[in-house]
Amino acid sequence: MKKNERRTILKAGLHGLVTVPVLGGLASCSDDQQAGEQPAPQIIAAPTRLPSEALSDSVTLLSGAPGNVLALTTDDGLMLIDSGSAALAPSVQLSLDAQHVSTLFNTHYHPDQTGGNALFGEAGAAIHSHEITRQWLSSDYYIPAEDRWVNALPGVARPTHTFRDKGEMTAGSETIEYGYLLEAHTRGDAYVFLRDANILAVGDVASPLRDPELDWYAGAWLGGRADAMDDILELANADTLIVPAYGEVMTMAEFQAERDMMWHLWERCSTLVSNGRSAQDMLEDGVMDEIDREFDDPYRFLYDVAKGLWAHYTNFGGKTV
Ligand SMILES: [Zn+2]
Repeated sequence: MKKNERRTILKAGLHGLVTVPVLGGLASCSDDQQAGEQPAPQIIAAPTRLPSEALSDSVTLLSGAPGNVLALTTDDGLMLIDSGSAALAPSVQLSLDAQHVSTLFNTHYHPDQTGGNALFGEAGAAIHSHEITRQWLSSDYYIPAEDRWVNALPGVARPTHTFRDKGEMTAGSETIEYGYLLEAHTRGDAYVFLRDANILAVGDVASPLRDPELDWYAGAWLGGRADAMDDILELANADTLIVPAYGEVMTMAEFQAERDMMWHLWERCSTLVSNGRSAQDMLEDGVMDEIDREFDDPYRFLYDVAKGLWAHYTNFGGKTV
């Protein structure tokens, strides 16, 4: 019996009802659907065309999948960066006019970015990711905030090509650079830089639309996020288009502003947590009032900040242990 079946039966026994898993939340980066549940074919609606925007002659940005999917046209088929959720992958495919996808990059393991892996992997795409993302997708994992398990992806949906640090490849005439963003949003985040087009996909390491998320259970923390944002700035210049997992394309200046916010939060929160302060303490201390942005759920963010800092207390000189 699978773990999630056990859990459903347990809940049914406790409440006299058959319940379905709580949906959305951190690991799915989605508030409105069960993109991460495997299998989830019953929720797949008829595919529809997604909003698309041409970022260059050869690069198209699809949005609403439910996040962003970047598509590069090459002589050898399409290269995608992230594949959308399982429910929306057919819409991604339709929106790309069903062109062959030869290469797919995953920026991280979350189901909104990897849910289409099965569809494109089955059709022959080579799937690239950081090695830790491949490992995470290859075994069942637990989401503590939702008290549920998500099954490993089937073999055909798992990354076939992995890296640990940095790499470079060519796709048609485009030079692609990619590399690790250590502990920034999960433990296996990567950027993908279309160097010739000057378009830089950073996944959920930039978060202009949604509250920034630190998947502490998967290894992210605020220190990793702040450092990774500096790494991204070293790649970019004033003309670079920075593509987040959700939301509109960012300029370097917009990304810099989010980076500065995260560094401020890092300096404040690491000091407070190292002195034994909780997420509620930080909220009451007004930490979130010091930044030029209103979060949808500031307590949730600070809870994840505190959890991540605790998990890395030896990295920042915490005094509490
Ligand atoms: Zn994510």
